[in-house]
Amino acid sequence: MNRFFLFLVISISYSLFSQNDHIKTDIKLVVGIVVDQMKYEYIPRYWDKYSEGGFKRLVNGGFLAKNAHYSYYQTSTAPGHATIVTGTSPSFHRIIGNSWYDKKLDKNIYCVDDDRFNPLGTKSNIGKKSPKNLQSTTISDENRIFTNFKGKTISVSFKDRSAVLSGGHTANGVFWFHSSNEGVFVSSSYYFNKLPDWVEKFNNSRKVDEYIKTWDTLYNIKSYTESGSDLNNYEEKFLGQNATFPYDLKTLSKKENGDTDYQAITTSPYGNTFLKDFALEALKNENLGEDKHIDFLHVNFSTPDHIGHKFGVNSKEVQDTYLRLDLDLKDLINNLDKKVGKGKYLIYLTADHGATHVPKFLIDNKIPLKELDLRNSLREKDWSNLIKAYSNNYVFLNKELIDNMEIDYEDAKELVKNGLKEIDGVYEVYDINDNNYMFSDGYYQSLIKNNSHPDLIGDLVVFLNPMYTTRYNSLGSSHGTPAFYDTHVPIIFYGAGIKTGYSNDIINVKDIVPTIASIIGIGAPVSTTGKIISDAIK
Ligand code: ZN
Ligand code: ZN
Ligand code: ZN
Repeated sequence: MNRFFLFLVISISYSLFSQNDHIKTDIKLVVGIVVDQMKYEYIPRYWDKYSEGGFKRLVNGGFLAKNAHYSYYQTSTAPGHATIVTGTSPSFHRIIGNSWYDKKLDKNIYCVDDDRFNPLGTKSNIGKKSPKNLQSTTISDENRIFTNFKGKTISVSFKDRSAVLSGGHTANGVFWFHSSNEGVFVSSSYYFNKLPDWVEKFNNSRKVDEYIKTWDTLYNIKSYTESGSDLNNYEEKFLGQNATFPYDLKTLSKKENGDTDYQAITTSPYGNTFLKDFALEALKNENLGEDKHIDFLHVNFSTPDHIGHKFGVNSKEVQDTYLRLDLDLKDLINNLDKKVGKGKYLIYLTADHGATHVPKFLIDNKIPLKELDLRNSLREKDWSNLIKAYSNNYVFLNKELIDNMEIDYEDAKELVKNGLKEIDGVYEVYDINDNNYMFSDGYYQSLIKNNSHPDLIGDLVVFLNPMYTTRYNSLGSSHGTPAFYDTHVPIIFYGAGIKTGYSNDIINVKDIVPTIASIIGIGAPVSTTGKIISDAIK
């Protein structure tokens, strides 16, 4: 009888618990990790060399989307970060590039510039930043609103745009690295009137100087069989040195006047380690994940992008960067276990875009890639004066001049369109103001629509042949195209609420945020168009 009673009590409380289980969550902290320029293939490519505690722990214990993509053409840092946190495309969040031409203001706008605010933590003039151009709420804005502003948001990065856009409109603290001769984490008066004490203290500790040391490979370079040779024709020099290990950062970063050039750390894997150190300080000093309100910590690792641009995706330097980042992730996760507790945090990891191989490397290996600097080609054309600006693939016609010349606008547009189409390497020129175009289907059309905000569209859009890159005679890797190599990134979910597994389906990066919102039980941002990845949810 007693035993039966006990059984009854246990089953009733168990069923009550499981009914509530999918409504309330134990999650105290969501950690959003974005690795700048991380191609999906870096997971399988370096898999055998990763430790058990970093990428492998996340993939084996979490959910991996193997075919995650961006669905717009301007695959660069700002649109990537904005898309991740808003769950929608540039067509709604309005961050259509790192910068853009604003036809109403007739000038180029950098995505997070805002003259109304002042820099904090630096003697320089950088830091007049805010998220004013972001035309959406973000997942952590929604969390702030949901928790009556008791749940916190902290965002850290090496790049201002990554930190500011990830932080959203209501962040409690947003910090990014200012290299130059200062080597400090800085912010903007948009967030507060002075840097928090712990940030001042961290800057004053000059911990950054501990990382101005020799960069050699983590393991024996001979074991790095997954990448090309260290000395090759496809890398840029690093602070004047040929791109071969070891790099003595102390000597390389020394300027003639005795100052240190802290670019040395933004282009070495120690930048990731230093950012991780700073993120752990934020975790501790901002008491993240300690009370019952969910907090958000955005950690954007920017240095892999600088390293990719300099050395190329097939370099030993990039391989070493990921093997070391793996250890930084391990340390970050171990600290989450200790400070927040297993089962109390949720991680997502993704990238803002991928990258191409160095064009020269592909050409030397019989891949018939070509390079085209369209801006250069335009200069030679006698109709190029009809173009006022060329920005993010848009052609903006010079309407004033066209009026003055008494040419019909449609005729001028036709002339430019046909002229552009004759340039070798131009695949197609689209007229986005043409209804026939707007209601047509097609892969390129959808990439353009998703990238186009009504305020910022040009008169025409140019698409290059996919076997052309938009550079000329270039070294290192780049991105910013609609090609597969730029759109394909990893998505990993790990921790509380996540089902272990993987997906081979095409998943959109904008699906991350509605999935997280559903797990933690809050609303998704205002114009989220992503779909919930149910397979990832427990
Ligand atoms: Zn980037
Ligand atoms: Zn090298
Ligand atoms: Zn980049």
